Amino acid sequence: MSTAAPVRAYLGLGGNIGERAACIAEAIEHLDATPGVAVTARSQLIETAPWGDTDQAAFLNAAVAIDTTLAPRDLLEAILAIELAMGRVRSRKWGPRIIDIDILLYGEETIDEDGLTVPHPHLTERDFVLRPLAEIAPDLEVGGRRVADLAAAVGAA
Ligand code: ADP
Ligand code: MG
Repeated sequence: MSTAAPVRAYLGLGGNIGERAACIAEAIEHLDATPGVAVTARSQLIETAPWGDTDQAAFLNAAVAIDTTLAPRDLLEAILAIELAMGRVRSRKWGPRIIDIDILLYGEETIDEDGLTVPHPHLTERDFVLRPLAEIAPDLEVGGRRVADLAAAVGAA
C-alpha cells in the first residue's frame, strides 16, 4: 500500500470454462474489493474465438479501467491471487481457463521485467483485447495510436 496518487490502469479479462459471464463479474468484484484498487469503468462482454490454441471453447472477454495506488508488481500479485482464489489451474499455454486477468496498461509506464511486461505485449494485435478496451477508452493512445483506431485496424484485418 502507498499514499501515492492513484494511477489509471486498464485490465483485460477473459475465460472459457463454466459460467463465463458470472466468472468475469466475480473477478471484477474481487478487483474492486482489493485494497488500493477501484474499478471505474467496465466494458460489455464480447464472445471471441480462442486465440493461439484454437481447439477449445469460445471465450468471453471484457476490459475494465481501475484507479490504483498499488505498484505494478503488487497489482500483478493481487491479480494472480484472484485467479488462484477463483480456481484457475494453469495447464497448457493459451489453454482453457476459468479466468485470465492481464494488466494491459499501467498509466504511461513501460515495464519490461521478469514476469511483467506492460503495455501487455500482445495488446495491439488482439481483437479480443482491443475491442473491449476501445469501448471504455477509445481516445487512449498506445504507441502513438488511438485505441479506437487500433481496434478498427485489427477488426478489418
Ligand atoms: P496469458 O495471459 O499470456 O495467457 P498467463 O495468464 O498464464 O498467460 O500468464 C502467465 C504470466 O504472465 C503471469 O504469471 C505473469 O507473471 C506474466 N505476465 C507478464 N506480463 C503480464 C501482464 N502485463 N499482465 C499479466 N500477467 C503478465
Ligand atoms: Mg494472463
